[in-house]
Amino acid sequence: MINILRKSHCSGCSACANACPVGAIVMKPDEHGFLFPAVDVSKCIDCGSCDNVCHFANPNDRHHCIAAYAMQSADHELLKASASGGVFASLAREIIAQGGVVAGCTLEHTCDGAFEVKHIVINSLNDLHKLQGSKYVQSSMDDTYVKVKEFLDRGIKVLFSGTPCQVAGLKSFLTNADHPDLLTVDIICHGVPNAQMFYDYIKTQEKKHKLKITDFRFRDKSDTWGLTGGVSYTDDNGKKHTVSFPARKSSFYKLFLGGEIFRECCYHCPYASPERPGDLTIGDFWGIEKNYPESISANGGPFKVEKGVSCMLVNTRKGNEWAEVLTTQMEAVPVDYRIVSKENHQLSRPSDLGKNRDKVLVLYGKHGYDAVEKWFQRHDLIHRTKRKLFNLLNRNRKRSNV
Ligand SMILES: Cc1cc2nc3c(=O)[nH]c(=O)nc-3n(C[C@H](O)[C@H](O)[C@H](O)COP(=O)(O)OP(=O)(O)OC[C@H]3O[C@@H](n4cnc5c(N)ncnc54)[C@H](O)[C@@H]3O)c2cc1C
Repeated sequence: MINILRKSHCSGCSACANACPVGAIVMKPDEHGFLFPAVDVSKCIDCGSCDNVCHFANPNDRHHCIAAYAMQSADHELLKASASGGVFASLAREIIAQGGVVAGCTLEHTCDGAFEVKHIVINSLNDLHKLQGSKYVQSSMDDTYVKVKEFLDRGIKVLFSGTPCQVAGLKSFLTNADHPDLLTVDIICHGVPNAQMFYDYIKTQEKKHKLKITDFRFRDKSDTWGLTGGVSYTDDNGKKHTVSFPARKSSFYKLFLGGEIFRECCYHCPYASPERPGDLTIGDFWGIEKNYPESISANGGPFKVEKGVSCMLVNTRKGNEWAEVLTTQMEAVPVDYRIVSKENHQLSRPSDLGKNRDKVLVLYGKHGYDAVEKWFQRHDLIHRTKRKLFNLLNRNRKRSNV
């Protein structure tokens, strides 16, 4: 029966819970909110299914990139709702047009006013918006792997997208990981915080600012492509508002970007490497204007950078067949893998452990997110003041040298 001896050896993918034939495994949060499998020994029949599908214990095949592209959708609406260039939604649209289904991550505002980040399966273009955009939180997999298998068994095409460890989890769960009807897309991922902490962050903001948050987007392109979030809320007087905010203004976002609140395994991630579990890998193409200046519209190229540009790595023959379809439908420029990798350290090494991670998690575990928010505001102010002073001193030193 599955027994997690080291937290760094479990990504919380839920393959074990999906594989258990008697429903003896549920994913339970630890003291900091990260999900781990918990076995009900009274139900367990010791069949070993859970151990067999663990991708840490039994790593599955991974693939080197065979081609790389910078890409942007020409569909403005689709592009606006996507975190970068809209590769995912373009693929999803094609799969649905062929009668297939798409599994991916959604951030839902539930009827009781809470938020939920989870994987769902859709078969209609009307639901595509639910999966678009990055949610910087680990999604709950529930029984998505079981559902994917059922669709494949019925001869229905499936596009599964998720973090590399979720793709690896699915491939371990399936007996035929190379099923011809399955297309897998892994995202370039630098780590995931847990969903409970995100929900508590939302509650803290609601209390602090006396409002009710009704929608939260980690990536908002109202102004431009970048690390800007968006939030919709109802104020004390019942008036509705929608605003954008820079990532640095949000404690949760800034702690996420600083690598302070990731799951333990993210700092040792075996998929933060050039060898990918998915048929395709997608991410933001940061630095496109510096590396491929001829590709941007100001220089006569196809990309409007302010609208977002994706990178897409093609890792398998199946991925290549889909890339051939996509590159005729989207603006696409072949690029050098080494350039993409240089801009994304997650393609060669895991994120560094944030130096405040232990402190933040202990605070959160003992006193909840309110305490994290208080600590963050004080810490951030000190940090910003020090930086300002440093810059001022440097400027004065340079002036006196002149
Ligand atoms: C936690 C996380 C970390 C990331 N880190 C990086 C990074 O360091 N560098 C980089 O270049 N790109 C990173 N990305 C990917 C990037 O933000 C975009 O998702 C990617 O560029 C695809 O954009 P798109 O426009 O094609 O599609 P979009 O429509 O923006 O992509 C949506 C896709 O992302 C999936 N997705 C969204 N949130 C989650 C989640 N929480 N768990 C699993 N799947 C999810 C959806 O299922 C869907 O397939 C990260 C994404 C996530 C979720």
